[in-house]
Amino acid sequence: MRFSYWEKDRLLGQQDIIVIGAGLTGLTAALQLKKRAPQQHILVLERGALPRGASTRNAGFTCIGAPGELLADIEQQGAAKTFALVQRRYEGLQRLRSLLDDDALGYCATGGTEVFWPEAQAHLRSCVEALPWLNDELRSLGKVPVYTCGKASVGLALAPTAIHNAYEGLLHPGKMMQALLKRAELMGIKILFGAPVAALEGGLRPNVILKEGETLSAERVLVSTNGFARQLLPELDIRPVRNQVLLTAPLSKQALKTGYHLEQGYFYFRPVGQRVLLGGGRNEGGAAEETDQLGLTKPVQSRLEQLLSEVVLPGQEVAIEQRWSGILGVGPEKRPILKECQPGIWAAVRLGGMGIALGTALGQEAANQLQG
Ligand SMILES: Cc1cc2nc3c(=O)[nH]c(=O)nc-3n(C[C@H](O)[C@H](O)[C@H](O)COP(=O)(O)OP(=O)(O)OC[C@H]3O[C@@H](n4cnc5c(N)ncnc54)[C@H](O)[C@@H]3O)c2cc1C
Repeated sequence: MRFSYWEKDRLLGQQDIIVIGAGLTGLTAALQLKKRAPQQHILVLERGALPRGASTRNAGFTCIGAPGELLADIEQQGAAKTFALVQRRYEGLQRLRSLLDDDALGYCATGGTEVFWPEAQAHLRSCVEALPWLNDELRSLGKVPVYTCGKASVGLALAPTAIHNAYEGLLHPGKMMQALLKRAELMGIKILFGAPVAALEGGLRPNVILKEGETLSAERVLVSTNGFARQLLPELDIRPVRNQVLLTAPLSKQALKTGYHLEQGYFYFRPVGQRVLLGGGRNEGGAAEETDQLGLTKPVQSRLEQLLSEVVLPGQEVAIEQRWSGILGVGPEKRPILKECQPGIWAAVRLGGMGIALGTALGQEAANQLQG
């Protein structure tokens, strides 16, 4: 398809910067670009009728890391990198909360809880023993210690001891994205939905080739397609992973007060009003979950249902109202990628399972680099 003269003249116009992907990272980058240079024309291209990655499909935990996960990360990538990443997540959350206020985010400082299986006593013990060290290393986050030992809430058939995180909360991803889209519109950022990009060509004025065949160009291009990034930039060390969730019908009594992490965050559950959202299980889905295709599978959904009925809401008959999935971008290191991949073409991707905490900061840093 070819654009008409009228479309080119008014609906598209000349672009200074094209951002690909209207998730949290892409939209915060676009906002920051416009804030730094209001005269610049910014175009965001999104393949879906709505953003179709993770930002509108996630669980809304504003997580910075639970001890079980941090200890595993320390073993894999060392203490310094792990603590720096926690600090970065925490600062990222503050940036998100100052960009959009807590009401707009549907943010609630509930704290967070890591729970353990009864048979994971040794793991629980090593986490509990590490708390003074973890709290000391993370003391710059605030006066209150990050982690404290407590009880797993009544009704959960898990080890009775749990670890609470005072710096975590829950938000409403739909509200967050709605507020970002509204802000972008108010600032005059153009967003085209249903505009999948098929290929890129780096250069003095890089080209963005749409799936429909038309080519757009700009001074700079930012790829913020996260789990889908290798479709456009195959050289990036990132792979897509699917995460599935389910949501119950409203319960007569809400048992959950905070967000919960289980098995180093591979499972998570939280209250959503009177409902419970439960997700994860990608470690059990095997190779089938290493995909950039949205979809649901029986093994993962059955495991989530089992967890719901045996652990989260034992003995309760609960209807499942909705199920969906989203795509994460992960890699060998738990660190986002921000770099110029081809002349004029930058990537800001690989946010892992904690993109809410990292997305705003990464988007803003990407914008600063692009204009820097
Ligand atoms: C089920 C689930 C639960 C999660 N829970 C949490 C949580 O509780 N807390 C947390 O911090 N993180 C969570 N995450 C991770 C978090 O949602 C992501 O890290 C974050 O949203 C990534 O934001 P992004 O903008 O970088 O990427 P995305 O939101 O994935 O945005 C990328 C966008 O690019 C678009 N796109 C892709 N290819 C193209 C193309 N060729 N042309 C045009 N557009 C394209 C996609 O449609 C998408 O809208 C979860 C993820 C999932 C899937």
